[in-house]
Amino acid sequence: MWTLVVNGGSSSLKFALLESDSGEVALSGLAERLGSDGASVRVDRGDERVTVPLPRGSYPEAFGVLLAELDALGLRERVRAVGHRVVHGGERFSAPAQITPEVLEAIRACVPLAPLHNPANLAGIEAAQAAFGELPHVAVFDTAFHQTMPQVAYRYAVPEAWYSQHGVRRYGFHGTSHAYVAGEAARLLGRPLEELNLVTAHLGNGCSVAAVQGGRSVDTSMGLTPLEGLVMGTRSGDVDPGLPDYLARQAGLSLTQITAALNKDSGLLGLSGLTNDLRELEQAAARGHAGAQLATEVFVYRLAKTVAGMAVALGTLDGLVFTGGIGENSAAVRAATLARLSLLGFRLDEAANAGAVRGQAGPITAPGSVPALVVNTDEERMIARETAQLVAGGP
Ligand code: ADP
Repeated sequence: MWTLVVNGGSSSLKFALLESDSGEVALSGLAERLGSDGASVRVDRGDERVTVPLPRGSYPEAFGVLLAELDALGLRERVRAVGHRVVHGGERFSAPAQITPEVLEAIRACVPLAPLHNPANLAGIEAAQAAFGELPHVAVFDTAFHQTMPQVAYRYAVPEAWYSQHGVRRYGFHGTSHAYVAGEAARLLGRPLEELNLVTAHLGNGCSVAAVQGGRSVDTSMGLTPLEGLVMGTRSGDVDPGLPDYLARQAGLSLTQITAALNKDSGLLGLSGLTNDLRELEQAAARGHAGAQLATEVFVYRLAKTVAGMAVALGTLDGLVFTGGIGENSAAVRAATLARLSLLGFRLDEAANAGAVRGQAGPITAPGSVPALVVNTDEERMIARETAQLVAGGP
């Protein structure tokens, strides 16, 4: 089923028209700098790329360009459904949902949990509904996959009223990616997903690890917000909860300033003092840059510790999956992580690891090792698949 996948960000809008079974992409694009001067939308159709300026810099204008492109290519009639990435579905959504006024209201109710993301997702949905009013629209939530976590994994040891009155609990994110790569890993291992205990590591600019038991998430490293857990590009991951109070008193910073710094000035960027880009850090570390070396070492150490923690959630381990820009491309991060995880039974195959780059999924461990694999994530394809299943009345 040809499905339009829409991912609305605060100043950007990504879209792709793809066939949900084969994954074939007919058209994709990205509108950037929405809401400011110089907004434009880039549309890729096969080998061709066009960039169209958006003088009003609005979502509806971007969808207008998309519609014109679909018409020009004779594709508009093919589109059967629109799938939307929505970051936070709270406790309400454990599966994709067809968008109705009531579902929109529920997504709006989750805005306090994701104040930057959900409003942007809603703006994308509203503009897409105006442009494609006759089609079914489906919301696919980043949090939904993790709704299978048991209480022991999702509750914080804080006053119960914070949970019952304010929804303070661990939700987890990147669910679409974790679900997709777990399925792909089962395929590559030649075993039914239902039988497997997997740890999936999504390592991009945001990073998270999930424990996936029989295809269901039983724990993950992100929590109430996407700030918890691993060291990320610009996010700190776990810090002492006493840090904000200490820093407010010592440095005279406000809570808002501290939270912004933990999200935007920390992680690989904060540790290295150089960049959030791992590829650049690897090059700088090779030149002897001490901050870059430290940043990558802390990144790997925290990742390995978290993976080992996820093994506790699973009991036994049948495989570790690396995905995302870092997981798919950095042989050095994978090698260093597995070296720290030898106690779990991992033995690297150096040649396979060096050869596994973006586009080449497969195992990177030696015979007799617990398998570690590189899997290329494809969130758009997963969103298209889930949207098509829901619209077709499938599982
Ligand atoms: P996002 O989370 O924004 O989708 P990506 O999944 O594209 O991000 O991941 C971005 C990260 O992947 C960056 O840190 C980037 O440096 C890293 N990366 C991409 N290619 C390579 C590479 N060849 N070697 C090492 N790191 C890479």
